[in-house]
Amino acid sequence: PAEGRGVLTAHDLHARYDGFTALAGVDLTVPPGRITAIIGPNGAGKSTLFHCLAGTLRPTRGQVRHNARNITHLSPHARTRLGIARTFQQLAVFPTLTVTENVRLGAEQGHIEDPSATDRALRLLRLDGPLRDAPAAGLPTGTLRRVELARALAGTPSVLLLDEPAAGLDTAEVAALTRVLRALAADGTALLVVEHDLDLVADLADVVHVMTAGRIVASGPPAHVLDTLDARETAV
Ligand code: ADP
Ligand code: MG
Repeated sequence: PAEGRGVLTAHDLHARYDGFTALAGVDLTVPPGRITAIIGPNGAGKSTLFHCLAGTLRPTRGQVRHNARNITHLSPHARTRLGIARTFQQLAVFPTLTVTENVRLGAEQGHIEDPSATDRALRLLRLDGPLRDAPAAGLPTGTLRRVELARALAGTPSVLLLDEPAAGLDTAEVAALTRVLRALAADGTALLVVEHDLDLVADLADVVHVMTAGRIVASGPPAHVLDTLDARETAV
């Protein structure tokens, strides 16, 4: 049932930085088994929305709910424990820890005792062999993104929030990422992807929401939403 699989919703979310309104009333559902994408120009409020969902920013109005429970006032850590995992736009791996140690941290933060959760995450992201014992420092960006995603997955989240997961990846790495995210969705995970690579969004997302100036201004399947955007740009 959907309740058990993790649904994240936002209701009339507002957020401000000093006097500046960055979110001006956002309603959003991130359903299980689907890949939901947020696109929009720089400064639209995508990362701000992401921070409100992850708990790193307190909205000035509105609510975030997880399976109908109001979690607006829960810390990021408490949300992680509920099964809401995230990755960072700026990579946030620990350079002196090995790949395996970084991934294991994700299991610990999610309070997952089962040691096989770390192994499964390493395998899913193809972090194999000697690479597992290498310190994270000095690994290429594509590998570090896999480490970070594996860390999020080691906590066996039911909701996964990704801010620009394809940043710095080459074509082959994006294809591999796409396969992993599809597999997670097929497994029932609710995925939210904030992304400005429209080709990736077209390929990956089940539903796209377009943000402009702190609001969602269009929503729908990617073929429809992205065609409408193209038409608008051609008309200008
Ligand atoms: P996006 O991720 O869509 O590029 P952001 O959510 O990062 O947009 O930013 C939305 C708006 O809020 C932008 O105008 C940005 O300049 C502003 N903003 C973001 N973070 C801060 C901050 N820490 N302090 C002040 N203004 C900010
Ligand atoms: Mg951003």
